[in-house]
Amino acid sequence: MPILVMKFGGTSVATPDRIRRAAKRVGREVANGFDVIVIVSAMAGETNRLVGYVEETGPFFDAREYDAVVSSGENVTAGLMALTLQEMDVPARSWQGWQVPLRTTDVHAAARIEEIPTDNILAKFGEGMRVAVVAGFQGIGPDGRITTLGRGGSDTTAVAFAAAFGAERCDIYTDVDGVYTTDPRISDKARKLDRIAFEEMLELASLGAKVLQTRSVELAMRYKVRLRVLSSFGEMDADAGTLVCDEEDIVESNVVAGVAYSRDEAKMTLISVADRPGIAAAIFGPLSEAGVNVDMIVQNISEEGRTDMTFSCPTNQVARAEQAMQKAKDDGQINYHDLVADTDVAKVSVVGIGMRSHAGVAAQMFEALSAENINIKVITTSEIKISVLIDRKYMELAVQALHDAFGLEKAA
Ligand code: ADP
Ligand code: ASP
Ligand code: MG
Repeated sequence: MPILVMKFGGTSVATPDRIRRAAKRVGREVANGFDVIVIVSAMAGETNRLVGYVEETGPFFDAREYDAVVSSGENVTAGLMALTLQEMDVPARSWQGWQVPLRTTDVHAAARIEEIPTDNILAKFGEGMRVAVVAGFQGIGPDGRITTLGRGGSDTTAVAFAAAFGAERCDIYTDVDGVYTTDPRISDKARKLDRIAFEEMLELASLGAKVLQTRSVELAMRYKVRLRVLSSFGEMDADAGTLVCDEEDIVESNVVAGVAYSRDEAKMTLISVADRPGIAAAIFGPLSEAGVNVDMIVQNISEEGRTDMTFSCPTNQVARAEQAMQKAKDDGQINYHDLVADTDVAKVSVVGIGMRSHAGVAAQMFEALSAENINIKVITTSEIKISVLIDRKYMELAVQALHDAFGLEKAA
């Protein structure tokens, strides 16, 4: 029988009643002739609650135990989903990550999937089981301990299962009815897209649109998984939601497909570093060794052999970055006057494959921000995106201004 993967996010399994609604959808797909692999998230808010407990134990916790705690939310929903399906006379069984076993790397709290053996679950389908309910977000590392895949990781579990089992499709059920031109919570003019290209979705996800975890889009692109995002509250309809697909399958599109934002950015400036060969390596080497994810980088024009170097990184890595820079200074690798951290910034980005062939997108973006009197602190560009760092208090205004400037509320 053909296999379908259905993933239900936190809001879709937030209460026993919602689990029942989700289970009804699964039951209908079983009636349509599919064997179904259901991937569940923890109930809405549960993972945050568990992370809070871990953080209360102290600032430098053991990531292995973090994973042991935060993975538990998914165990509850997997069991409850299987029970609910059984109540509806749908033969179902739950699996935790280690039981599959979904094997991952050893990077606790941010593990990558290495292998999903299919024999165990396929054998059960062969015996008449119709639904395998798998706890998302979790796996088992080489040391035999539970790992997790990073926040939002159930999306990646779902796509990886779809790839491993050669599923017909991977349906991601969430609290919005598809991928929008921007976060519908920020702009009421946001428009749902019927289709979006893998490359665009990958950029939007990595620039902050959390509707899909970045890694899930990467996997879908690599393994050609038919990936659909849709609401678990709407009608069941074959054309519902947004299909993430190859760019060749999109007939018409805007130059800019969408606007993304990330609140979680900090701007760090090293004041007065010596401008000499090797200085960038001497700064960014230690940052990378300390596990700081540097995103944007700007070096000022130098004066009298000294310059300022600015970079951005996630807010929760500021302390680590400061520590790494202080150590490099103490060890004599670099010499700077001061390190200034600005945590009141946000990143706003426009994304679109149309930018490859259209000039002037950057100018139009900067003009729209200038019309709102928004100062740009740092700019980066790549082939299909432009990002700016701005004061956080202007983030929503910037998203709305850019959404208007690129005419995203109108259908392409
Ligand atoms: P789930 O719990 O189902 O995984 P998430 O909260 O992780 O749901 O992701 C869905 C949320 O992503 C939406 O509620 C929406 O606020 C946010 N979002 C951000 N950008 C977009 C976008 N471009 N399109 C749709 N949703 C977006
Ligand atoms: N429950 C996990 C989280 O909140 C994984 C997920 O929902 O995708 O990050
Ligand atoms: Mg999510």
